[in-house]
Amino acid sequence: MSTYTERSFSQLPIFLHNLQRTNPNTFTAIKKTDTNRFQFCFVALGCVIRTFLRCMISLIYVGYLPLLGSYLTTMYFVVALDGNHEPLLLAIGLGTLECEESWRWFMMKLKECLGEDTEVGFISNLCDKIDFGVQSAYPDSYHGYCPKDIARKIRELQSACRKPPFCTLLRSPIFWLDDIAISKWTRAFFPKVRYNVKSIDVPEMLQIISTSIREFPITTIIELINTSIQSKYVERAEVEGSLSGGLTPYVESKVQKRVNKSYNWMARRLYGDTFEVDDNFATSKVQLERRVCSCGKWQKSGIPCGHTIASLRTRTSEAIHEMVDYKFTAFVYRLAFGSELVNSIPSHVHWEIPNETVVLLPPSKK
Ligand SMILES: [Zn+2]
Repeated sequence: MSTYTERSFSQLPIFLHNLQRTNPNTFTAIKKTDTNRFQFCFVALGCVIRTFLRCMISLIYVGYLPLLGSYLTTMYFVVALDGNHEPLLLAIGLGTLECEESWRWFMMKLKECLGEDTEVGFISNLCDKIDFGVQSAYPDSYHGYCPKDIARKIRELQSACRKPPFCTLLRSPIFWLDDIAISKWTRAFFPKVRYNVKSIDVPEMLQIISTSIREFPITTIIELINTSIQSKYVERAEVEGSLSGGLTPYVESKVQKRVNKSYNWMARRLYGDTFEVDDNFATSKVQLERRVCSCGKWQKSGIPCGHTIASLRTRTSEAIHEMVDYKFTAFVYRLAFGSELVNSIPSHVHWEIPNETVVLLPPSKK
């Protein structure tokens, strides 16, 4: 007699049909073997895709977590930041293998659901398989590594260097960085799309599922994630309701810090809308129309740097807000969380059965 976990695989196609029915434009895909055994599935909620495309920073963190249990080995995920710098889970994959081919499949499905022409950048921990997946699906995109993970790797190498016999075999950690393209590990060389993001937190729900000693049926995992995203939308709708300024609270506080810091910086108009700003240490050149500063902070973060703020003669909040990337405005945040809803998946007894029957068997045990 099959267990509930095994039966959940055969129920998955009907379950996903009902998830799509209650959450329009939800993107799902299942990959199976020639013998109809489950291999992989991909899920991205319709409202999350809409929120990302219209309102979120176009930089995606790619990661994975191992799963306990007899069938599924890995949960793949992609996370992005909203205008208030809070992470939102964009999509997940659940699979029986963690290999280059599964990464390629996962990233191809992500591209399919976001649209061929969507320009995005990626960050991840150091992982060749993720590199392969990103490169396969997005050959022209930018893919950098999390500074935290680079620092972790350097600490590991440093501690290995101190232990014989490795102390004579290993090169200095600094030389190890020579093998990685500079644009992959420094924010200064990463293009604008990076938005100065150092790292993105993994949603708590994913970690709970990953570290739970229980083996969850696949449909339960997706249901838990759906509930978790639903609560994020409810929480952020409350933040949206309390917004009073023109920017999100995170960006408002960033701007205020830069206003305070640049209070006595001297700006001199060179010509037109181009200024030279002395910040008491160095001078930077600001071009307001082109939205660039030679310090690089404005174009990298989407938030005007102190030089830009010093160049704005009136320094009114309206003038400063106009210089902030539109994705950080209260208007866009309202658009993201003021009208979108994640609907619950109906209980088993209320499932609609699709016309087309898909045969799906549980995968072989690990
Ligand atoms: Zn600047």
